[in-house]
Amino acid sequence: MRTRLLRFVPALLLLLALLAGCTTVSEETASNEGPDQAAQTSESPSDPAQEAHGDDALTEQNRFLHGIEQRAVRIGDVLYFTDCGANHVPMILAVDLKTMECFPLCGKPECEHKNSSCGAYAGNAGPVSLTASQGRLYYLDTVFAPITSAVCRMEPDGSGRTEITRLNRDLESTSDGKSYSWFGIYADKVYRVFCGDYMEDANPHETAVFYSQPLEADSEDRVEELLRVENAVGAAACIDGHDLYLCVSTVQDQENRFSVYAYDMDAETMETLYSGLASCVPSTIVCVEDELLFGYGAPAFRFSLSDHSLAELPLSTNHDDVVMVGPNVVFIHSSPYECRCVDYSGKLLYEGFYVPDELRDADLTCLPLGFTDGCFFFLMESFTEESVSYHFLAFQTTDYTARLLYSLTVQNGNLFGG
Ligand SMILES: [Zn+2]
Repeated sequence: MRTRLLRFVPALLLLLALLAGCTTVSEETASNEGPDQAAQTSESPSDPAQEAHGDDALTEQNRFLHGIEQRAVRIGDVLYFTDCGANHVPMILAVDLKTMECFPLCGKPECEHKNSSCGAYAGNAGPVSLTASQGRLYYLDTVFAPITSAVCRMEPDGSGRTEITRLNRDLESTSDGKSYSWFGIYADKVYRVFCGDYMEDANPHETAVFYSQPLEADSEDRVEELLRVENAVGAAACIDGHDLYLCVSTVQDQENRFSVYAYDMDAETMETLYSGLASCVPSTIVCVEDELLFGYGAPAFRFSLSDHSLAELPLSTNHDDVVMVGPNVVFIHSSPYECRCVDYSGKLLYEGFYVPDELRDADLTCLPLGFTDGCFFFLMESFTEESVSYHFLAFQTTDYTARLLYSLTVQNGNLFGG
């Protein structure tokens, strides 16, 4: 059992890896922002630059938090993430990045974190995606009858939870087997990108969809479909300033095609930046300066926004490796509990364990959350016959040491955390 390969995000990632993916990279910009600056920007919402819905601080702090399914987001010096939600109500946890203290986003003693009166409650069904805008947390909650997603907002301390709107259920009805799901908030709209089976005349079509919807109550029918691509096997999106970058991978007649689009959310214009034959199936994008970095599942690619060239990062990866990108540091999962870290030129920075001692007996599944404040963050999952455990790890890239920040065990539906 211990020799079983650590699975990085089960089925979805396996598929992506098989199809050959990419990763996201970038320059030093994120690490240049010190904690003081981060705290200052997040705590001064009256700053006019912040109010101009630029959200630059949020963009910067979250640039490398590109984990699958948007499980992590940062506001100021607090990193928020959600557990997998298997067998229990998913929770929002928080890490104080200054002290590395980690806790459910709930101040109520004896709370079971099972309903919306709890700040850590993260909806009816996992997994839950998180994002942030103007210093507030947003998440997508699954709602039923009819099934769709509700866009919910809360204050960074878990208070003031509000359902803002529900996503258009005709478009969202592709939910059966979405292989990629992303949402972003900009100004007064929610932007949605996903890839999945779309039913048409009772036939499933592999389709990528991009649409926007006003961020207000009862806006379900006021959507604007911005892009639809058939034969899609993958998609990814990110917001950088007022630009939304989107890539779609397709397979048709055994040809892998890759396309990159830029949507200007202020001007409401779409531009195709690239469309060509390439075996690039990323599920994350990072935008840094004049580059887009595509990631998750080797190989990883970089794309120049100035000359529109696409190139593979020289990482010497196997096609089933998973790579995760930080500022000029790339994490490559090489074996259970072990990794390699290289810079963007492929130079080896570290090779060894990234899982701390106490977890090296467990049969772990790893869900990367991304990079911030000098650390790669991971959520690890381990199962026994009666229980499932979640372990939240930080892997520091200054000295390449790993730290277990929080463990949570769910047994017969009951939580045991600490
Ligand atoms: Zn609670």
